[in-house]
Amino acid sequence: MKVIVCVKQVPDTNEVKIDPVKGTLIRDGVPSILNPDDANALEEALALKDKQEGVHVTVITMGPPQADEMLRECLAMGADEAILLTDRAFAGGDTWATSNALAAAIRQMGEYDIIFAGRQAIDGDTAQVGPQIGERLGIPQVTYVQNFEVKGNEVCVQRQLEDGYEVIKVKTPVLLTAIKELNKPRYMSVQGIYDAFREKEVKVWNFDVLGIEKEEVGLKASPTKVYRSFVPQPKGKGTMLDGSVKDMTEKLVVALKEKHII
Ligand SMILES: Cc1cc2nc3c(=O)[nH]c(=O)nc-3n(C[C@H](O)[C@H](O)[C@H](O)COP(=O)(O)OP(=O)(O)OC[C@H]3O[C@@H](n4cnc5c(N)ncnc54)[C@H](O)[C@@H]3O)c2cc1C
Repeated sequence: MKVIVCVKQVPDTNEVKIDPVKGTLIRDGVPSILNPDDANALEEALALKDKQEGVHVTVITMGPPQADEMLRECLAMGADEAILLTDRAFAGGDTWATSNALAAAIRQMGEYDIIFAGRQAIDGDTAQVGPQIGERLGIPQVTYVQNFEVKGNEVCVQRQLEDGYEVIKVKTPVLLTAIKELNKPRYMSVQGIYDAFREKEVKVWNFDVLGIEKEEVGLKASPTKVYRSFVPQPKGKGTMLDGSVKDMTEKLVVALKEKHII
């Protein structure tokens, strides 16, 4: 069984701070990490490999050359193969162009059974790339997967809803997007780190491998363009209420009504 996991390197948004004077994001020194939902996707692929003979796990990312390090971390967790899709032609792509490039690369990988992606990347935050890859490849997709089981060529998943879940059975090939409730990602092993950074190869693919036109990727292909980006206004200072509990409760109700919160 061949499993492909789409992984994205993202800035650790927990570490991004706002410059109180300039009001801009401070990105210097912010570490890059494997997108959290993608770690859940990879864990599920690796757990399947632990359980079942003959499971081969490939991780793929589209990104700058420094994404090599994240791919090696995936190898150190237990992935069998890593592909870095990198080329200036991909720069400035929106989700449409990103998923087009990733789907074209997956087509070049031959037969596959399951494609895993994270539900959402913590930087772009759109949750669109996974479903778009499924659409482009013309395969079924199930998003928000919180439980996963394979029986032969059938996958049975629980899809999280706001107030419950659906149980969905679907034939492979299929695209699934993982959420954090699915599992607890494993750590890299010491031997895994040694092998991944010393012995193993990250395959680097450029645009020419994909067999599509230049106009189909990157900024040119993107139907959307980011016109302006800005940092939200910092929240105002908090207000301390004083007086008796009754006074404070009344003031609180008035303040909340003024803000249309209640
Ligand atoms: C309107 C718009 C315009 C943009 N313009 C630019 C721009 O000009 N320049 C620029 O640099 N960026 C731009 N971006 C950001 C870029 O499009 C996104 O980072 C990228 O398309 C992935 O989308 P996302 O981060 O929302 O991922 P999501 O759709 O939230 O990701 C879901 C899952 O898809 C998979 N995935 C997503 N991206 C990748 C990847 N690169 N490799 C492998 N797997 C992946 C992962 O499994 C991830 O968990 C733009 C985004 C938008 C919405």
